[in-house]
Amino acid sequence: MKHISLMGATGSIGTQTLDIIKEHPEEFKLAAMSAGRNIDLARKIISDFQPELVSLSEKSSADILKAEFPGITFTYGHEGLIEVAVYPKSEILVNAVLGSVGLDSTLQAIEEKKTIAIANKETLVTAGHLVMEAAKRNGVMLLPVDSEHSAIFQSLQGEKEKNIERLILTASGGSFRDRSRKELENVTVEEALNHPNWSMGAKITIDSATMMNKGLEVIEAHWLFSMDYSKIDVLLHKESIIHSMVEFHDSSVIAQLGTPDMRVPIQYALTYPDRLPLRTANRLNLAEIGKLHFAEMDFERFRCLKFAYEAGKAGGSMPAVLNAANEAAVAAFLDGKITFLQIEDFIERALASHNIISNPSLDEIQATDLETRKYVNSLL
Ligand code: NDP
Ligand code: MG
Repeated sequence: MKHISLMGATGSIGTQTLDIIKEHPEEFKLAAMSAGRNIDLARKIISDFQPELVSLSEKSSADILKAEFPGITFTYGHEGLIEVAVYPKSEILVNAVLGSVGLDSTLQAIEEKKTIAIANKETLVTAGHLVMEAAKRNGVMLLPVDSEHSAIFQSLQGEKEKNIERLILTASGGSFRDRSRKELENVTVEEALNHPNWSMGAKITIDSATMMNKGLEVIEAHWLFSMDYSKIDVLLHKESIIHSMVEFHDSSVIAQLGTPDMRVPIQYALTYPDRLPLRTANRLNLAEIGKLHFAEMDFERFRCLKFAYEAGKAGGSMPAVLNAANEAAVAAFLDGKITFLQIEDFIERALASHNIISNPSLDEIQATDLETRKYVNSLL
């Protein structure tokens, strides 16, 4: 029986992680969880899974639920998130919160030698050097949940790092794959939220439409697989059937395929190096699909991908600026305060105005994150 701490239980990845726990009650137990502001869903999850420790964003929500579930320990805020992450009984932390808010708690869980199943790519983008150094020092495994990285991880089983020629991340193209830049000028929030293949949280759905999601994933891959940016490529693949690939020096390419369903990579991270049946998953029927399509990525059409490569290669505090500017700009777009194309415009300006710090400490990263958000909000 593996005990799990789940940060972000009320989100898209969080609820799908709960589906996996529910399907294998003899394998997994939810020991601790965090939720943000969705108290109604948190209440239902607590009642279904009876975790021992629950953290909410606000003290007021924690107090309300505490009165309803007297046998359960409640906590809140930043400290609460850390308590969930380092909960002594848990062997695994699933980080499924949104944005850089999960950085601190993930670092602390690594120091407590928890295995980390990481969905939260912003943590690695913002502070990959600190996370990887801590993981190495503590002998902790970081298991990818992001479908592309899980695909690469699965393709690398039994392979040696020195034999890798390059990683090939596939990209569906998001909601606006077939539109020109001109046609992007007046797109609405509702249109942007309508992803053709995946059902995900709002922020990552917008990131898919701007292609920033793929940019963040390039940086995530750089850290997870210690791969130089010159060896990470992106390929448009609109069906989202091939989740990513690895090319080796002998020109062999290994890929992982499946229907688009996040529960598969989530479950693999929880069962690694084993596998379990996933009763409710749709099996892949290639004869029915018939054709798969691929196309070269256009870096002028998808400028956020270009910014991400540039920020990743510059290194230091630049990826933290990229991420914070993106989080702030996407929030503003979702609030109806800026247009879709202004997202990339604001990110570009934030990157240009930043004086890079090489090898930043956690404090310097958090200060950069805050400053960047302030800068973007000052542009509104
Ligand atoms: P959602 O927006 O659906 O869920 C986010 C979760 O984080 C919710 O539980 C939310 O709580 C909580 N949360 C948000 N803000 C805070 C905060 N300030 N403090 C504490 N908790 C907070 O996001 P997703 O599940 O889509 O994404 C989660 C992560 O996984 C992201 O990093 C994303 O990039 C990554 N990812 C997601 C994929 C997907 O298919 N969705 C695929 C691959 C990666 P509440 O709702 O209660 O407020
Ligand atoms: Mg992904």
